[in-house]
Amino acid sequence: MTTTPVAPFTDLDAAPATPDFGPATQLTCRECGTSYSLGAAYACVECFGPLEVGYDFSGVSRAVIESGPQNMWRYSCLLPVASYAGDERNLNPGLTRLVRADNLATALGITGTLWVKDDSGNPTHSFKDRVVAVAQSAARRLGLGTIACASTGNLANAVAAAAARAGQDSVVVIPSNLESGKVLTTAAYGGILLAVDGNYDDVNRLCSELVGDPLTADWGFVNVNLRPYYAEGSKTVGYEIAEQLGWRLPQQVVAPIASGSLLTKVDKAFREFVSLGLVEETPWKVFGAQATGCSPVSQAFRAGHDVVRPVRPDTIAKSLAIGNPADGPYALDVVRRTGGAIEDVSDAEVVEGIRLLAETEGIFAETAGGVVVATLRKLLATGQLDPTQETVILNTGDGLKTLDAIAEHVGPTATIAHDVDEVTRVLAEHHARHR
Ligand SMILES: *Cc1c(COP(=O)(O)O)cnc(C)c1O
Ligand SMILES: [Zn+2]
Repeated sequence: MTTTPVAPFTDLDAAPATPDFGPATQLTCRECGTSYSLGAAYACVECFGPLEVGYDFSGVSRAVIESGPQNMWRYSCLLPVASYAGDERNLNPGLTRLVRADNLATALGITGTLWVKDDSGNPTHSFKDRVVAVAQSAARRLGLGTIACASTGNLANAVAAAAARAGQDSVVVIPSNLESGKVLTTAAYGGILLAVDGNYDDVNRLCSELVGDPLTADWGFVNVNLRPYYAEGSKTVGYEIAEQLGWRLPQQVVAPIASGSLLTKVDKAFREFVSLGLVEETPWKVFGAQATGCSPVSQAFRAGHDVVRPVRPDTIAKSLAIGNPADGPYALDVVRRTGGAIEDVSDAEVVEGIRLLAETEGIFAETAGGVVVATLRKLLATGQLDPTQETVILNTGDGLKTLDAIAEHVGPTATIAHDVDEVTRVLAEHHARHR
């Protein structure tokens, strides 16, 4: 067993006497099982495998969770770091709505109950606030004063906003071709924003090099050297689905895949709830959704491969455009173990998916949500997803951040003069067209 010393705890205020990692006990290599002390480490020294947080859960019950705050910190007993009691210095994301989507179900020929877990309701309008909140708390316990990230857009928003809220410095690194809705909102929160000429995989490589540089000794890259903690934040999506369904599991879940982390953590959340006796063990299938222009995990699934061959992304679904997904092989494992499937959809189908969800349920999703809805449709058409079962689909972000994607496809019904006759004419034409 290899151990590394835990960095001294230097919180900005209200610091407990010793670092409090809640129920987390160590970091463990997913590949070879070597354990390490809790610290800002992410790769195994022995085999370069990814490290994952290990726990010794105790005192977990429905009552403890139900008496917690109305945000993701109600699951503190299942997370590596609890937000401090009474501490306001994070965005307190989570407990987003689970919307019953009967109209969408009817439109798609689904007879089982269909739900949308709508994470666009988080403070910066994507599920990334959850992962950042956990990484931010871990950074404090590890004495890292600056939070940083390599981002495809939503993470940039979440890190810059969380740092602003906590009075911390932030450094956000993005590809320079991101949607303006994500660049401008990130810039508005302040902090340092570096736009790199290149794609996300170039950005990620740059950040991996920066992690070893003395320049960044005080930085916690939420999705690089804090990745084991960060990734655990995604479990709260799964916990919430089960709690909001009345402490039970759905039969099918459709999740988008970028790095593959979210998909694997939803499954992990369900497994933990079962093993802790919080829900009855009922079978569930996990399905993955990608855009065809960046579909390395879907391609590997179709080909029956265990390894994921990197691709060069070219899609409007930029939040999912990771050509070399770190958790791709683990996402494949989860989908195959649970009996799910992975599909990918064209950019035109993504736009149709965004519009279908908006028109049927009044939920305006970003491109990643369009990928999920379009993939749901494809999984149904190909007989891979059962229309009679209860299904939850994830909308992970808000369409206001990716307006560019639909700008050419929607607009006013008509542009008219200030004249009642013109309204009459337009309505008549509209009704004739939609009869
Ligand atoms: C980051 C992101 C995802 C996927 O995250 P991974 O855990 O990397 O697979 C999905 N949807 C949106 C909107 C995102 O920003
Ligand atoms: Zn290892």
